[in-house]
Amino acid sequence: MSKIIVVGAGIAGLTAAIKASESGVPVNLISPDFSERSQSVMAMGGINASLNTKGENDSVKQHFEDTMNSGCWINDENAVWKLTSNAPKIISWLERLGTSFTRDEKGNVDLRYFGGQKKQRTAYAGARTGKQIVTSLVNECRKKEAEGHVKRFTPFRFVSLIFTDEKECCGVNCINENTGEIKSFTGDAVILATGGFNNLFGRTSGSIHNDGYATAKAFTQGVELANLEMIQYHPTTVKTPVKRMLITEAARGEGGKLFILKDGKPWYFMKEWYPEQAELMPRDVVSRSIYKASDAGRKEVYLDITHLDEKTIKEKLDEVYDVCMTYLNLNPIEEPIPIYPGIHYFMGGIRTDENHKTNINGLYAAGECSCQYHGANRLGGNSLLGAIHGGCIAAENAILENPQGKIISDIVSPDRYEDNRTADIMNKSMGIYRSEDELNNALMELDKINEDNALILLARACIISALERKESRGAHQRIDYPQSNEEFKKSTCVRYDGRIRVSFK
Ligand SMILES: Cc1cc2nc3c(=O)[nH]c(=O)nc-3n(C[C@H](O)[C@H](O)[C@H](O)COP(=O)(O)OP(=O)(O)OC[C@H]3O[C@@H](n4cnc5c(N)ncnc54)[C@H](O)[C@@H]3O)c2cc1C
Repeated sequence: MSKIIVVGAGIAGLTAAIKASESGVPVNLISPDFSERSQSVMAMGGINASLNTKGENDSVKQHFEDTMNSGCWINDENAVWKLTSNAPKIISWLERLGTSFTRDEKGNVDLRYFGGQKKQRTAYAGARTGKQIVTSLVNECRKKEAEGHVKRFTPFRFVSLIFTDEKECCGVNCINENTGEIKSFTGDAVILATGGFNNLFGRTSGSIHNDGYATAKAFTQGVELANLEMIQYHPTTVKTPVKRMLITEAARGEGGKLFILKDGKPWYFMKEWYPEQAELMPRDVVSRSIYKASDAGRKEVYLDITHLDEKTIKEKLDEVYDVCMTYLNLNPIEEPIPIYPGIHYFMGGIRTDENHKTNINGLYAAGECSCQYHGANRLGGNSLLGAIHGGCIAAENAILENPQGKIISDIVSPDRYEDNRTADIMNKSMGIYRSEDELNNALMELDKINEDNALILLARACIISALERKESRGAHQRIDYPQSNEEFKKSTCVRYDGRIRVSFK
């Protein structure tokens, strides 16, 4: 029987481990932190599924179309169709595992509006959806551990991939963060579920523990990446001493409005510019509107929820209330919240096919570290869904495609670098708007660091992808190429063979 190695224990890694072990396959689940500390726990707003409990004739087709439109049609249509078709089943599965979704007065799973979606489609558990889901998955995974199917290893951080003579992936080297010792985990297939590359940019809304090192190192070892230029700025984040904190899109879903003071009076620019969907336009559109309305951040922008009743704020947006009271010393029931867009999600990452297989036999990727489902811009509520669905698909195919018995010869001497001196350079050049000059300057700045370092290579790959996409699409906006161009209605694919090579596929 084959053995599966899963690296990363957020929602994607937990799901992959549970699903693989359900087939009776032994699983090693490796992570630096406990699942309860993964970024997945931070998810507030919800998870999408066309449950149609609001009588709006929502359907898989509509969910599919909204996802493709938001992704500017460079997402994989077959993969997105499977994702949206499976979404209602995923909600039922989570409920069976104990996730307690908020219900409406009729007892149905309640659904809310989220940006870029034509229907109310986002199921939620108060403002703690991620925490609820992680708790259910952790409980299920513990059962698998007790049965002896899953073995957990913490605190181990990824160092490098291990290959057979045939260049198939058959394991990972990891460092024990307590002892500094390197341990090699070998098996028949590896699933990477190591999250986004937040720490390349420093202050994002996500977890700084997601350093992107696994993606970066895998890239140096021949794994292809895709759409690295597609980085989502969440429209409403607030600055705190250590990082940016999210004010969930649910605040706008419940009726929150954005404004700027003009001649002492609120100017509701989203309503004026997009009368139909206003604040519920896709995230890239709202972020760009904030940028423009505020004159690139020179004027303060506010999110106003003071017109919502106190019960809605305290029950449905309790996390927003807590963030404002704790970090801003501001009561959102009485005062509007000063916000600005911040880096929130990486649509790009490890390139996979619709089976979540990478270009290397035996290697799979799922969750935010992978480039699947979201194209040029992710819909809020689709990433928890993508991480769970992706974890299931990766596990299923890792077992099907990798029979037992790989011969392991090449346990490479592991190396490890920690470096986020790229953060300033990346934030400056990969902003809401980009230009050739800024991107070329960033490459020169990175050259000055002059180190043989996987993270710097990943930073270069992001910038070169942005340079090569000579158009504006979704999250990637070029001031020197302001229009979309049919020629680029494709994904960027990046590989490394001593040089970074970008192609469009
Ligand atoms: C504040 C916030 C709110 C959000 N709200 C929503 C929402 O409402 N709805 C929605 O759909 N999405 C939301 N998202 C996005 C969503 O939470 C993530 O995309 C999703 O949880 C990613 O899951 P994951 O399992 O891929 O990664 P993670 O949960 O990030 O887990 C990554 C795992 O990999 C491990 N890891 C990291 N680096 C390494 C390494 N070098 N070596 C080994 N292991 C490593 C980590 O320790 C962790 O165990 C939100 C994100 C943030 C930041």
